[in-house]
Amino acid sequence: MVSPTVTPQIHLAEEAGVLVLREGPSPTPVKETESRVLIIGGGVIGLTNAWALLDAGYAVTVVSDQWASLENRITSQIAGALWEWPPALQETLPVEAHGIRMRTANFFFDRPIEENEEEYNKMREIETAKIRGFVHDPTLVKKHEISRTAAVVDAYKHTSPVIDTDVYMLWLRSVVGAKGGKFVTRHISGDLLEHEDELLEEYEANILINCTGLGAYDLAQDKSVHPLRGALIRIVNDGSRFPVVKEALIVAYDQDKRDEDGGIVFIVPRNDRVLILGGIAQANEGELNLTLDSPEMRRMRDRCNKFVPGLACTTSTTEDAPTAAVGPQWWISWHTGSFASHVIHAVPHGRHGS
Ligand SMILES: Cc1cc2nc3c(=O)[nH]c(=O)nc-3n(C[C@H](O)[C@H](O)[C@H](O)COP(=O)(O)OP(=O)(O)OC[C@H]3O[C@@H](n4cnc5c(N)ncnc54)[C@H](O)[C@@H]3O)c2cc1C
Repeated sequence: MVSPTVTPQIHLAEEAGVLVLREGPSPTPVKETESRVLIIGGGVIGLTNAWALLDAGYAVTVVSDQWASLENRITSQIAGALWEWPPALQETLPVEAHGIRMRTANFFFDRPIEENEEEYNKMREIETAKIRGFVHDPTLVKKHEISRTAAVVDAYKHTSPVIDTDVYMLWLRSVVGAKGGKFVTRHISGDLLEHEDELLEEYEANILINCTGLGAYDLAQDKSVHPLRGALIRIVNDGSRFPVVKEALIVAYDQDKRDEDGGIVFIVPRNDRVLILGGIAQANEGELNLTLDSPEMRRMRDRCNKFVPGLACTTSTTEDAPTAAVGPQWWISWHTGSFASHVIHAVPHGRHGS
């Protein structure tokens, strides 16, 4: 049982087809007993589904074989968790509660952004949406003292929510618990379509939502699911080896880059102590065997070091999880048709899964 860290006097409301966060308890009355939902998977997808359904008046049980913890992180905690835009949470709650804080995020490019149609269109969308703090300014390269060898010439920045996933996942679970969600720790095996009826009966539910992330490969028996391996390194951001990094510095994946890793740079202060370095995106790679000495991890660090000299030789550790210096995990792409059953599959599609 999780003891709530906050009274969730907030709710998700559907307005013009979009879920928005509002203050106060949900005005939607609890629905009758036929509206019971069983969610399998206690990651960000499962718990966010649970929250939205509870606020919509459904009764929800979440079954998961593992929950977010500092000892054994799940994929939702390993995620980069820099939300580019739009901001997902209003700043009405103290950051200590949910772990989300607004930071300046800088995005760098190896040619004038007008020459990259996709990135230019994205930037124009951000500008048109009047995202707070937006500035297109090539001099950001100089301002952040990015090395010439990083070969970036253009940049823009805006304010963006950055999530301390360890804090957020515990908070999210506490919100779901305080709203009446039930939690069961259990591993579910086998094809969900075969076990659907017995699971629905056991948990007195009418609908089953599969939010098991990687577990969906087995539970949905869909072999077209394939892994995309990512990895990040956590280092101490206390100013002792390099000036404290306070803003996010990003170069997006670009498959045209000569660099075999798509040139990704992901330097994001996660909280006041920890800096996240990334990243890689390896299609069809499912082994969780990366170490700090793996060639791709060394390349990743070198790319980051060109942005903030001093990162390359910094000890990779954190104050709160010294054994989890490297967090290689998977995220998956999902391609499936619909099933004639009461099972809904809610698993991530590729990089921006959440
Ligand atoms: C290095 C890295 C960086 C990333 N960066 C970003 C990013 O910046 N932005 C973004 O949007 N996404 C990012 N992602 C992807 C993102 O982390 C995932 O898409 C997201 O966390 C998936 O959430 P989930 O709830 O589906 O899965 P999970 O967090 O894996 O949760 C699944 C849950 O289901 C449980 N479970 C699994 N199988 C079973 C079973 N058979 N029975 C019972 N329970 C089961 C697990 O224990 C777990 O609790 C990144 C991923 C990685 C690895």
